[in-house]
Amino acid sequence: MIFETKLGKVNFYSGKQKRKFLLFKQMKIFGIGRNYAAHIAELNNERPDEPVIFTKPETALLTRNRPFYYPGFSNDIHFEVEILLKICKVGKNIDEKFAHTYYDEIGIGIDFTARDLQTKAKEKGLPWAIAKGFNDSAPISNFIPKKDFDMQNLNFSLNQNGEVKQQGNTSLMLFSFDYIISYLSKFFLLKKGDIIFTGTPKGVGPIAIGDKLEAFIENEKMLYVDIK
Ligand code: MG
Repeated sequence: MIFETKLGKVNFYSGKQKRKFLLFKQMKIFGIGRNYAAHIAELNNERPDEPVIFTKPETALLTRNRPFYYPGFSNDIHFEVEILLKICKVGKNIDEKFAHTYYDEIGIGIDFTARDLQTKAKEKGLPWAIAKGFNDSAPISNFIPKKDFDMQNLNFSLNQNGEVKQQGNTSLMLFSFDYIISYLSKFFLLKKGDIIFTGTPKGVGPIAIGDKLEAFIENEKMLYVDIK
């Protein structure tokens, strides 16, 4: 709604519009690195004592199965399929035993990683921001209620051109969902709508233009991405 005032035209949002706008603008995306032992081994990484945390900006989100356009700055974009948690209430310093009440929906996503840029950054001890947070680097599915699933024994997978490339089970995580939420909340105020990428199992690999990626929770296809 546009109002004329002494200071010129001012754009006011109605209550509902404003809430939507704020929720979208303020959401955070967290990623957990090195949460599956077999994936740590395939990239010759060290096993961490605490979760490895990175963030992606909101502009990394790719929703509604829209295609991914291969960017010019990398020659080695990898897929990493991951279970997503969606935070459902505000919290900080959350005790691990209450952490399960801070998310009620799960989804699946792909943590696209520019492995060439990440490898360079790792060699120099520099941040991963551009390797992990570039535009559209976070395709996500719709979210579904967690109550229908066993969080400690959840199967998920990724197909590339119809061939199974990654198969994970949450029982193989080094850090549980509850531990991750508790740990993150020591540093960051978690808010409704924040999304956590909980780490990738082994089998990550490069994508190419023309690829079709599909991601599954149990046997349900939840997400697909065409690479263009
Ligand atoms: Mg990842």
